[in-house]
Amino acid sequence: MSELLSVDDALARIVEHAQLLPDETVRVADASGRVLREPARASVDLPPFPSSAMDGFAVRAADAPGRLPVSFRVAAGTAPPGPLPAGTAAGISTGGTVPDGADAVAPVEIVDDEETHVAIHEAVSPGQHIRPRGGDVREGEIVVEAGALLGPAQIGALAAAGIADVVCSAAPRVTVLATGSELRAAGETLAAGQIYESNRAMVAAVLARAGAVVALMPVVPDDDEAHREAIERGLGADVLVTSGGVSMGEHDLVRRVETELGVSEVFWGVAVKPGKPISFGVRDRTLVFGLPGNPVSSLVGALVFVQTGLRALQGATHALPRYGLGLTSSDIRRNPHRDEFVRARREDSGPDVVLQVISGQESHMIARTAAADAVIHVPRGDDAIVAGSVVRFLALD
Ligand code: AMP
Ligand code: MG
Repeated sequence: MSELLSVDDALARIVEHAQLLPDETVRVADASGRVLREPARASVDLPPFPSSAMDGFAVRAADAPGRLPVSFRVAAGTAPPGPLPAGTAAGISTGGTVPDGADAVAPVEIVDDEETHVAIHEAVSPGQHIRPRGGDVREGEIVVEAGALLGPAQIGALAAAGIADVVCSAAPRVTVLATGSELRAAGETLAAGQIYESNRAMVAAVLARAGAVVALMPVVPDDDEAHREAIERGLGADVLVTSGGVSMGEHDLVRRVETELGVSEVFWGVAVKPGKPISFGVRDRTLVFGLPGNPVSSLVGALVFVQTGLRALQGATHALPRYGLGLTSSDIRRNPHRDEFVRARREDSGPDVVLQVISGQESHMIARTAAADAVIHVPRGDDAIVAGSVVRFLALD
């Protein structure tokens, strides 16, 4: 492993090998976390009519200030009975339709409502407190672009634009399996040499955020036959993620068994810490990730590499990791040969995101990792990153 692949090159190879999943129609209410595959267009102007931004009185701006007769009152959800007669005002609620003829709304804060009349105490300017028809989006315009990951903002926009169904990528079906004869489930008693299995649930938690439907398989002991059976089953998914067994030990069987089962390996080993021995291959359309078993290696591998694969399979415009920027609160030594992902906590004091590196950075220290809500990307290099420098991070929350 002298010439290791860089993180960027590894990510590029993953994207290159990801073949788009079929698409399907999804109800907007069920589409959170999915990737849109066809642009979604507004079915109406938004707002669909000129509407009032305030509770108050619709008027001609030229008539204010002044005392005007009230012609009618418009509640939200009803149409005005007709245009606004000259020299009068119409009571109106927020969201009510501004009658033709009116060009401003005098908010309740500047009027005295006398039932049959209204005294408006201040001037209003044309257009004030009116949301013009189509001011947000026009019918037929694109509300959300193809390739967008549908988060809360996009879901809200789609629903508001009258869109009930959207065309999304099928959700990738991911099988996660953990290898290791030492692994036991929480609740069991540990015998000598055994530890609790932590990677499957953790990896599943990462991947669910990238729109995956995750199935966990039982723990696979370190023997050939068990590996063969489990991996063959896992290869039926769109993505197989294994943990453990990809290093150089005599019990590291995953890569050999995968090769025997027809997986062609695209790479093994990336210049990254933690997680160097990560493997990636394909069989037919299935992407196959082998994450090293140390829990922090599995966490980083899932976050950086597997998530990228999942987004690429779904046709996401932004498949690569999307970093935020923050300031490191301490010096960070750099590794000359490998990019590092350093666990950190975001401090919310002050205007900047300040990242505090947590203590306990070794790849087995998953309990210490619980204090982290971010990982800082520390590019390889010879000099240190000094406290106060801008660094890139991936959020863990
Ligand atoms: P491996 O990658 O199989 O060589 O495992 C590296 C280290 O990670 C060993 O100390 C394993 O016991 C530990 N490990 C492997 N898989 C898991 C897992 N699923 N949960 C927790 N620890 C693991
Ligand atoms: Mg192992």
